[in-house]
Amino acid sequence: MSTIETIEEMLKKGKIEVAKPKKILITDLTARDGIQCKLATRVKTDDLIPLCEKMDKAGLYAFEMWGGATYDVCLRYLKEDPWERLRRIKEVMPNTKLQMLFRGQSIVGYRPRADKVVYKFVENALKNGITVFRVFDSLNDNRNIEVACKAVKELGGECHAEISYTKSPVHTYEKWMQYADELIEIGPHWISFKDATGIMMPLDTYNIIRSIKNKVGDNIKVLLHNHDMSGTAIMNHMMAIYAGVDMLDTVLSPLAFGSCHPATESVVAALQGTPYDTGIDIKILEDASTITSNIRRNYKKYETEYGGVNAKVLIHKIPGGMISNMMAQLKEANAGDKMEEVLKETPSVEKDLGYPPLLTPSSQIVGVQAVLNVISGERYKIITKEVRDYVEGKYGTPPGTVSKELISKILGPDKKPDYSIRPGDSADVNEWDNAVKEVSILSKSEEDILLYVLFPMQAMEFLKARESGGLVSDVISGAEEMIETQPGIMENAAPVEFDITYHGDKFSVKVEGVAPSQEQGKPRKYYVRVQGKLEEIQLYPKVEAAISGISTQFNQSKVRAQAGSGHTIAQEGDATAPISGRVAKILVKEADKVEKGQTIAIVEAMKMENEIHAPISGTVKAIYVKAGDSITPADALLRIEP
Ligand code: MN
Repeated sequence: MSTIETIEEMLKKGKIEVAKPKKILITDLTARDGIQCKLATRVKTDDLIPLCEKMDKAGLYAFEMWGGATYDVCLRYLKEDPWERLRRIKEVMPNTKLQMLFRGQSIVGYRPRADKVVYKFVENALKNGITVFRVFDSLNDNRNIEVACKAVKELGGECHAEISYTKSPVHTYEKWMQYADELIEIGPHWISFKDATGIMMPLDTYNIIRSIKNKVGDNIKVLLHNHDMSGTAIMNHMMAIYAGVDMLDTVLSPLAFGSCHPATESVVAALQGTPYDTGIDIKILEDASTITSNIRRNYKKYETEYGGVNAKVLIHKIPGGMISNMMAQLKEANAGDKMEEVLKETPSVEKDLGYPPLLTPSSQIVGVQAVLNVISGERYKIITKEVRDYVEGKYGTPPGTVSKELISKILGPDKKPDYSIRPGDSADVNEWDNAVKEVSILSKSEEDILLYVLFPMQAMEFLKARESGGLVSDVISGAEEMIETQPGIMENAAPVEFDITYHGDKFSVKVEGVAPSQEQGKPRKYYVRVQGKLEEIQLYPKVEAAISGISTQFNQSKVRAQAGSGHTIAQEGDATAPISGRVAKILVKEADKVEKGQTIAIVEAMKMENEIHAPISGTVKAIYVKAGDSITPADALLRIEP
């Protein structure tokens, strides 16, 4: 391999080499990465359609509007069929290639799947309107990219294989070149160099992009996908152009920069009239931008405080979306003050796991373990199922060395993990056929089966609700904002969060919501969190006061779904979950004998499965929860008697 001159060497000579001018192509990501970074993906299809209609006329290379988070949030919160979203957007974007983000062998989910499921997914995505597949693997284990790329090429799609950037002692320039060589071997249409967090620096960008371009020549095009958390992305864009990049990823200005990407308008304007002109109509972008501003306004309550530039990311490397998830988990566990500790713990877990880039699913694997290490007060006292699987190689080969202590804790002393098995081969080969059987009563199409095979619990709920005509979105857009203030500042304000002392016992209470209307002769339902646990309370109000500026911003349907399950407050010795989540499986029955430490239930939290272990040896006396129930650390899952 001939090494090419680095920009540092060129700068010493006072002259940098600039690639031959060309039209820079633009892929706009507003309807996927844009709403994901800035609005927690909570935007309904209805609100995206006008934007899509407008963007169809802009002259983009492609428009990204689908991916793992979109699929998940559609099912979990919006109660929309993600496939229906795809068809509706394709209908209004006949002139633009639609693009999706594809998690390699994990497709749009959180763990590797059998090859058959990958093929089925690609086939149906193409059929419903996707053209471009951005395929990545969070460990850069390209065995996880291979099958998806093969499927996309065979079935007639356009394959963009990605290299995911991170900073670590093992991620050297040589490593990036090795990954590029591996991808060239796979033979995608494009190579995408992606910094999903926003920690790459301009001169590195130049060197890496230029070297990849030098390798691929005219055979494969190269693009840059660069988030902006540290505020350097737009400089990286310019350096990538000088290095010969063919395309840049951008997002319309109302959702751009910070945790997201440089603005489409900014990049188009910067290159307008130069030899790199994108050819995009800035007038159309202006209209599309107005639509995007309205979307942002209507979904303001989903914005997080981590959406802007935050140079601390250079130390902790955690993407904005991940931080807000961790914060939510900590608050549920009454540990909201532990965020700084978690941010400190995260790089240690990342190191223990061999420096995986923090993208789905490795970001969740690292993040949840870091939260547990802090909450439980002891590192690896509780180890998630995902960390076990990761260490065993079920997600692929970690980029660096996994901590010896952690390996021996999980596999036993002197054992070594075997990374020679391709993750797709350790997935259940029958999962597609099993899913077809399990969901046969409710499914009407292969798309329905694809909902179920990837998200069984959420899809089952969704399909049942669809069947009974009861799909209710958890997301309320356009609601007025509630202004929360310090007590005693605003006149006529009602308390929504307070402590009460009742017969000498102190309870912390938060009013989460109230049913919108009261039927004649029936009580009105209030949803109140007592000691962190959601309760439904029925009241016959005698007087109600309307407070100006306060409306029901509460999420009634969500609250309704969670409330009223009559959970039992945990006593000493009961099995509980360390973090809030939903019960995925109960693995024991009443009267079963269990050993201390035995896995007795699985709780899904932060999209990861957490094993719940028996706190003592004994007999299962009572089981208080069932699969699908939402639970908090205060809830007893089951009671064991010695
Ligand atoms: Mn991204």
